[in-house]
Amino acid sequence: MNGAYPLVEMKGISKEYPTGSAGIPAGSCVRVLDTLDFSLNSGECAAIIGPSGCGKSTFLNILGTLDTPTSGSYRFKDRDTSGLSANELAALRNRDIGFVFQLHHLLPQCTALENVLVPALVSAHADEARARAEDLLDRVGLAHRIDARPGQLSGGERQRVAVVRALINRPALLLADEPTGSLNQEGADLLADLLLELHRQEGMAVVIVTHAPAIAERFGRVLELSDGRLAGRG
Ligand code: ADP
Ligand code: MG
Repeated sequence: MNGAYPLVEMKGISKEYPTGSAGIPAGSCVRVLDTLDFSLNSGECAAIIGPSGCGKSTFLNILGTLDTPTSGSYRFKDRDTSGLSANELAALRNRDIGFVFQLHHLLPQCTALENVLVPALVSAHADEARARAEDLLDRVGLAHRIDARPGQLSGGERQRVAVVRALINRPALLLADEPTGSLNQEGADLLADLLLELHRQEGMAVVIVTHAPAIAERFGRVLELSDGRLAGRG
């Protein structure tokens, strides 16, 4: 791709959960990620698959700098993330990374439009955010629902609002952790269509975690998380 640059470079990433944390017997520790390597260029897509409990969310949270590895190096846009303060990481996340989770995490008392604008409150583009929010909501078929609250929306509509919220600040990287997990087959297919269409239009890199191999394959590069590492599939 023209003008692509290395967005994510992870080398030797390990993550261990220490003794005494949830479900781990005293005196032992669990190594969820084990010297994992992962690279992604700007504008690329990757899908992560693997059985429940294999560490997909742990990996995605480290990718999104919501969590830190026990060891290994993670460079984002050629910056060593281990050298950044909590405030610098928060700014990086807000500017460069959008998140969509299995459950939408929308604010119940806010309208669709207000929810979408939350990440823009602290962004440099706050002035243009409202126009972009309305445009994106229109593009995901929700122009007529901008004043609806999450409780008035279907599961698929709520996830579409969550996707728009994730994209409001024009992130370089969109992370989606089982975004179709709460939807039926048709809703899941429609959400995957939407993510791919927005990827083509907006050009952001996308990493999606999914249980569904058919959805994963649509994102081109499929990686399986197994024994703490990622390996390419066919
Ligand atoms: P997945 O998303 O693939 O289902 P997770 O990344 O959520 O897997 O979890 C991987 C493993 O790490 C699981 O065995 C889980 O119990 C464990 N784990 C996740 N988070 C923590 C934590 N905060 N403390 C202790 N163990 C954890
Ligand atoms: Mg998970």
